[in-house]
Amino acid sequence: MELAKTVVCKLKPTDEEREKLLRTVQAFKDACNHISKVAFDKRVFNPVALHHLVYRETRAKFGLPANLAIRARDRVAKAYKQRRDKLLRFDRSSLDLDARLFRLIDKPDGVCASISTVQKRVKPPLAVGEHQRKLLRGAKPTHAVLTYKNGCFYLHLTVERKVPEPNGSNPVGVDVGMNNLLVASNGFRAEGKSIAKRREHFRRLRSSLQAKGTKSAKRRLKRLGGREKRWANTVLHQVSKRFVDSLKPGDIVVLEDLNGIRNRVKLRKSRRAGFHSWAFARLQSYIRYKALERGIPVISVDARNTSITCPRCGHAHRNNRRSQSLFRCMNCGFQHNADWVASLNLARRAGSPGTGRVVNRPDVRGVLFNHFGSPRGQAHAL
Ligand SMILES: [Zn+2]
Repeated sequence: MELAKTVVCKLKPTDEEREKLLRTVQAFKDACNHISKVAFDKRVFNPVALHHLVYRETRAKFGLPANLAIRARDRVAKAYKQRRDKLLRFDRSSLDLDARLFRLIDKPDGVCASISTVQKRVKPPLAVGEHQRKLLRGAKPTHAVLTYKNGCFYLHLTVERKVPEPNGSNPVGVDVGMNNLLVASNGFRAEGKSIAKRREHFRRLRSSLQAKGTKSAKRRLKRLGGREKRWANTVLHQVSKRFVDSLKPGDIVVLEDLNGIRNRVKLRKSRRAGFHSWAFARLQSYIRYKALERGIPVISVDARNTSITCPRCGHAHRNNRRSQSLFRCMNCGFQHNADWVASLNLARRAGSPGTGRVVNRPDVRGVLFNHFGSPRGQAHAL
C-alpha cells in the first residue's frame, strides 16, 4: 500500500529568488480573489465552466504561468464547495504546486527545488535534515504547497511511501482525553497530568504577557504560541509512537470518530474545546500514520455513548460515569477506570469481542448492537 506523508522543508532562496517568489505568491493571492469575485458574481462554481470564464484573463492580468492559473481556479472552486452564501476572500500566502510547477533536483551537496514563478524558474536549495533526506530519497513528489510565514518560505511536499498491506483482526480501542491523554483497551495508558501542568505554565506566561500589552510583549506572545505548539507536537509524537510500539501483529486500531463529537454527552464535549480538539485530532493522525506504516489497519467508529455504557451488562446511562475517572454501572455494579471502559467499548464497536478482558463472550456482534444501541457504531474503513 502507498502511504502519503507531508514533508516540510525550509527554502534558502537568494534575495533575487525571494523577490520572485514573493511576487508570485502575491499574484496568486490576487488571482484567487479575482476569480472568487467572478465566480460569486456570476454564480459559476463548476471548475470547468469557471475555467472558461477566467483562465485567459487570469494569465494576462496577473502574469501567472499556465498551471498556476489553473491551480488558482482550483483553489477557488474547491473553497466554494464548502459554502456559496458569501464572497470568499483568500488571504493565505501560499502557492499550490503540481508536477509542472515544481520538481526536486538532487545535487551532490543537497536538494534544490525548481519552482515556476511569474518570472522564470527559481532553484533555491532546501534546508533538509537527515530525517527529511531519508523521506525524500527516491521520492518523486507530484504535489506541493509553498507557504510564506514569518519571512520564510516552506515547501510542503507530499511523498508516497510503500508500506505493508494492512492486515489484522484483533481490535484495540483507543480513547483520547484530558485526564488520560490516551487509554487503549490493550492496557496502554499515557497520563495527561504532566501535560496539563506544562500547559498551565504556558497559560500563565501568556496571560502576563497579555496584561503587559506592549509591542515586545505581543511579539513574545506570538513566539510563545509557536513554542507551545512545537512542544505539544513532540509530546503527541512520542505518545503515539509508544502506543503503536505496544501493538502486536494482528491488531487493528479502533479510533473514535472525532467528527461525531457534537452528538456526544456534554461531559465529553466541554473537555474537547480549543487546544484539546486540536491535540486529539493530531494524536489520532499520528497514530494512524505510525500504525499504517507497520501494516496495522486503522478504522474509526462512532463513539456515541462509549463513555457511559457498561461493558459487562450493556446498560447505558450518563450516571454510570461517576466522575471524570470512575465508571460504575448503576445496573450491575461493574466498576473500572472510565477511560479504559470507553476504549473497550470502542474496540467492541469494531464488530468483535475485542480483548475480552472484562467479559469473555464469544462473538457478540449481534448482541452487541442490541446492547449498544444503534448500529451506527459500525466501523468504516478509512
Ligand atoms: Zn453493568
